[in-house]
Amino acid sequence: MNNRRDFLQKIGATALMLQLGNASAAWSNTPGESEAPYEGPVLRVAIMGLGSYGTRVAQAMESCTRAKLVGLISGTPSKIKDWQEKYNIPDKNCYNYETFDQVKNNPDIDAIYVITPNALHHDQVIRVAKAGKHAICEKPMSLDAKEAQEMIDACKTANVKLLVGYRMHFEPKTLEIIRMRKAGEFGKIKFFQGLCGFTSGDPKQWRLNKQLAGGGSMMDIGIYALNGARYMIGEEPIWVTAQETKTDPVKFKEGVDETIQFQLGFPSGAVASCLSTYNMNNLDRFFLTGEKGFAELLPSTGYGPIKGRTHKGVLNQPEPTHQTVQMEEMAQIILEGKVPVVPIDGVEALKDMKIIDAIYLAVKTGKKVVLKG
Ligand code: NAD
Repeated sequence: MNNRRDFLQKIGATALMLQLGNASAAWSNTPGESEAPYEGPVLRVAIMGLGSYGTRVAQAMESCTRAKLVGLISGTPSKIKDWQEKYNIPDKNCYNYETFDQVKNNPDIDAIYVITPNALHHDQVIRVAKAGKHAICEKPMSLDAKEAQEMIDACKTANVKLLVGYRMHFEPKTLEIIRMRKAGEFGKIKFFQGLCGFTSGDPKQWRLNKQLAGGGSMMDIGIYALNGARYMIGEEPIWVTAQETKTDPVKFKEGVDETIQFQLGFPSGAVASCLSTYNMNNLDRFFLTGEKGFAELLPSTGYGPIKGRTHKGVLNQPEPTHQTVQMEEMAQIILEGKVPVVPIDGVEALKDMKIIDAIYLAVKTGKKVVLKG
């Protein structure tokens, strides 16, 4: 152990693993299962955007053994100073939005985690790729499928990885339902329902600004129901229909959706019915049913603890901090080529962006939109 901070990080990870107990296969390779201190590769991460979610990720990373916060990118010097003190980050690893291309010459940073408003992800990820660093990008990956494809292309050209912050892809109860579905325990899947929403507060926030958010609830929270429909059913949709309801056009201006209901059809004949909203509370529920059984997550995508049950009983998998596990897993995906149960890369996120484009088109036209690959 190099110093007290490393020691505390290792203790934190051990505590995490004790909490995980008999977790699903996704955890089987994580450190802490053996008594020996972890001495393998560590992903050295800089966070871009020191806002509310960036703060959460940074705190969660303190309990990681395979990922470590080593750099900061922000437009606010006072935030950089506070974070430097809190996380012991040297001056040479701190940048602002004008200077961060210089990270190209910094061998101490492996990856940059972009946690800024949605509209900035496209340009920032492309700049990260051009600087030769791996990119982790928050959801939604981009404003549309065209941007997503450009981000994928830039990372491919630069030979860096591009991962998207779909933290539920590592959540133990979610993974157990996916395992059961793959094992045929629900029989032929017939239906998925995803309800995702909350009442959005401050009307001046960037989430309600079309230029910065790219849309409304669908981009921010409805994406969980969409992504969930895909990983719960285990197929890619072939058509979508969608309807928008707007009760407050002053708060939710043109292009900022308040509530969207959307339906997806899948090749097997399974269907999904989802609701995305910025104007209702207590909406965080997944329900999957097949010919032989069902699964329910309630809550399904909040920061946890996630709760759930199936026709076989209550799900009792561990309840780790999502962002800690996500960063542990992402470190292994980037540094060791680990393959996650549910993909987490740019191509996976591009699929969501294509369907979101189709959902907005279906809202606009009132017609069923057929999805092509
Ligand atoms: P936030 O407003 O709390 O933070 C955004 C940060 O970006 C701030 O530090 C802000 O200063 C900075 N920023 C840089 N340029 C900006 C600009 N031009 N306008 C406004 N802010 C600017 O937002 P957040 O909740 O942290 O969300 C950031 C991203 O993270 C979004 O893409 C959001 O969808 C995503 N997110 C993901 C999860 C998750 O569970 N995976 C949860 C929350 C947010």
